[in-house]
Amino acid sequence: MELRAYSGKAKRGGGGGAKADARTTVPGFENPNRQRTVARTGFPSASFAGQIIYKMVCGHCRAEYGANGCDIHARRCPKCQGGVAGEALREAAPGLFGSCADGEGLRVGAEGE
Ligand SMILES: [Zn+2]
Repeated sequence: MELRAYSGKAKRGGGGGAKADARTTVPGFENPNRQRTVARTGFPSASFAGQIIYKMVCGHCRAEYGANGCDIHARRCPKCQGGVAGEALREAAPGLFGSCADGEGLRVGAEGE
């Protein structure tokens, strides 16, 4: 008998049809401007209907700010890169978004380098 190794493990999403913002909103995502997605706040955007605000952090100056999910991929730091000011950043109320309340998943995975 033969054991099959999972040699095809990297194959998921191979279709190439993934939505652009499906990855940018995952905590730990970093765009080409070194703006990193920290967490989803769950609050609706004030400027774009239907968008959710995400907490971002700048990889250069560590500024934290809120950004619309659709803006993450091209976001620039409002402090050191001349980006727009960004959405007001509000912390999610404890218990309101139970699925994330334990903090699990916020800091999982790559811790930079
Ligand atoms: Zn910055």
